[in-house]
Amino acid sequence: MQDIKELNLKELESKLLSLGSNKYYAKEVLSWIYQRGAYEFSSMSNLPATLRKALAGEFYILGLELAGLQESIDGTSKFLFELKDKNLVEAVSIPAARRITGCISSQVGCKFACNFCASGIKGFKRNLTKGEILDEVLYLKNNVKNAQLTHIVFMGTGEPLDNYENVLGAIRIINSPLAFNIGARRITISTSGIIPGIEKLQSEDLQVELSVSLHASDDLTRSRLMPVNKKYPLKDLIKCCHEYTAKTNRQVTFEYILIKGLNSDGLSVKKLVTLLKDLRLAKVNLIPANPVPELKIIPPSSGEINYFKESLFKAGINVTLRKERGQDIDAACGQLRLKHEKD
Ligand code: SAH
Repeated sequence: MQDIKELNLKELESKLLSLGSNKYYAKEVLSWIYQRGAYEFSSMSNLPATLRKALAGEFYILGLELAGLQESIDGTSKFLFELKDKNLVEAVSIPAARRITGCISSQVGCKFACNFCASGIKGFKRNLTKGEILDEVLYLKNNVKNAQLTHIVFMGTGEPLDNYENVLGAIRIINSPLAFNIGARRITISTSGIIPGIEKLQSEDLQVELSVSLHASDDLTRSRLMPVNKKYPLKDLIKCCHEYTAKTNRQVTFEYILIKGLNSDGLSVKKLVTLLKDLRLAKVNLIPANPVPELKIIPPSSGEINYFKESLFKAGINVTLRKERGQDIDAACGQLRLKHEKD
């Protein structure tokens, strides 16, 4: 059995032709899957019965099963999914005002072993396929409450630019008016700073948002927090971001987790200002660290957080402070999967 979500419109059209049907039905099939939430071909009532049967003989629609669900008092829900090979991935839905953001995983586990992040603790297993990434979005879309899924961020487990083709393939379907129809500006790729991936991304005809997980303002600290910095150090990374903004005219958001005793003092913020001051179209999003007991990570005091934020603001840097969501359900990246595997 094959995952039908691996096929784009063209591929689906030729499949239908090879099944002796009309390619006109391809758009209908996409609409049933991505817009009307059908999990079975048999429920696609305006398709010929023979076609429904033929498709059901070769393809499945949803490839995952729910293995756990945690709901926060703030409306955030964390979904744990079991894939066909029994691996586990997680996705989170985060409601805010009129939007619901789906936070999606791109890999099973993670290679990059950032030392504040629960995702890397168990190491890397494998890339998610395009269909599995779409499974997460599909499940969220069909199960969020009270509103529509409006935004997608690749900030779950894994490094999206280390699974480039499958992530981009999924994004094209997420963005397609025939499928999820979520605007590119509402889709964010978050990267630990994979320079070749950022370079590749800037030549795509897709207006997606880019977030770079910075988390430190000097190489020594960043390499301690994020081993990937040894391969792609700050100077090269910032240069790459300059090129990205120049070429695309789009903003880069720098994510910066504030961790007590590590990267949140006065010197760190000074260095951050120096690093970013010439960068047009940059924004810093500060995130008070979500405690991960296994990693002994805790956030600084609210006084330190405010000082850090004010210093950036005074230096003319566009800065926001991310509200912590879902703390009561271990919503930091990788935490649910970790807990489940320990149980
Ligand atoms: N590999 C990509 C995508 C994963 S993003 C990247 O590094 O950007 C994972 C998100 O979870 C990041 O925004 C990171 O900042 C956040 N995160 C991980 N561990 C965290 C923690 N302990 N506290 C707060 N945020 C955390």
